[in-house]
Amino acid sequence: MQITMTKRDEIARAIRAGHRALLFAHVMPDGDTIGSVLGLAWGLRQLGLVARVACADPVPAELHFLPGVDEFAPRRPSDEDLIMILDASDLSRIGDLYDQERFAAALLINIDHHVTNTHFADLTWIEPRASTAELILDLLLQLDVRLDADIATCLLTGIVTDTRCFCTANTEPATLRAAIRLMDAGASLAQITDAVFSHRSMDVIRLWGPALCRAVLSDGVLWTEISQEMLRQANATLEASNGLVNFLSTMHEARAAAVFREMGDGTVDVSLRSKPGIDVSGVAFAFGGGGHAQAAGCQVVGELAEVRERIVRALQQEVRASLEAPERIRSVIERL
Ligand code: 5GP
Ligand code: MN
Repeated sequence: MQITMTKRDEIARAIRAGHRALLFAHVMPDGDTIGSVLGLAWGLRQLGLVARVACADPVPAELHFLPGVDEFAPRRPSDEDLIMILDASDLSRIGDLYDQERFAAALLINIDHHVTNTHFADLTWIEPRASTAELILDLLLQLDVRLDADIATCLLTGIVTDTRCFCTANTEPATLRAAIRLMDAGASLAQITDAVFSHRSMDVIRLWGPALCRAVLSDGVLWTEISQEMLRQANATLEASNGLVNFLSTMHEARAAAVFREMGDGTVDVSLRSKPGIDVSGVAFAFGGGGHAQAAGCQVVGELAEVRERIVRALQQEVRASLEAPERIRSVIERL
């Protein structure tokens, strides 16, 4: 009988044979990429590997409570035999830390849960779970790592942030089972939700006010934008706009929601959300980004107004097509 190895088996085997690992979180990091990298790093250290962590951008303040978070730096590979990129669906997601020569010297592993994954690594494990952190939990259990409170806190933070505290449409019984397992191992759900959701700074209020005032609803798409001028006037950093798109997407008539952020380097960061039944990952992918059906994003070169117009138009088309599809099916059935 032939025994087929899963991607997870292959990754577990590579880790058992490995010595030094460099773990990458994606640019503009969120709780899932940071929590997954830290949880895996602690697990690898328990197995005797040297594990270092890298990210091109600073870790947002609400994640500073995570054990080991101070070790993040915009590092490039040196003498590692394993390079692991977590929660990222393409190589551009590690920003300018990619360098072909140094990456070629190590085994490149990608663990991710995005449907738009481009399979850029030597070894890719993607599964459409609610968070990458759940995949890391499965991997650590396979490797017989003892879950301690530090690992559990990092991984539960990944689940809580990517599911907006178990509220997103992709939250499954398996997600809750993973969370229970992590709480049993010592993670505090109350501490995590308090840290990530209840410490907004005053910048956020000053920035969201004007941004919400200029929000536009058009053909089912609710959008707003954050310009460099708005950041200056609110005396706020870009980080203060995190979460705004989630808030917009709670509006009743919004089938899709978008926030356009002028990055100040000639690019616009685009965050997209949608109600179940509307898939925004295709629009993000078409503009060079990626994500999930209900949460996706991209970075587009161009002027704020021009990028916004192109993407709002694409979103409106997506909304129209999704609303028309069941209508078309119904009329075909009626004609039968
Ligand atoms: P957010 O709007 O919270 O930044 O991102 C929503 C989802 O889309 C996340 O899963 C994130 O990883 C993904 N995403 C956001 N921006 C990009 C991008 O530029 N490229 C890719 N591949 N994915 C993105
Ligand atoms: Mn994620």
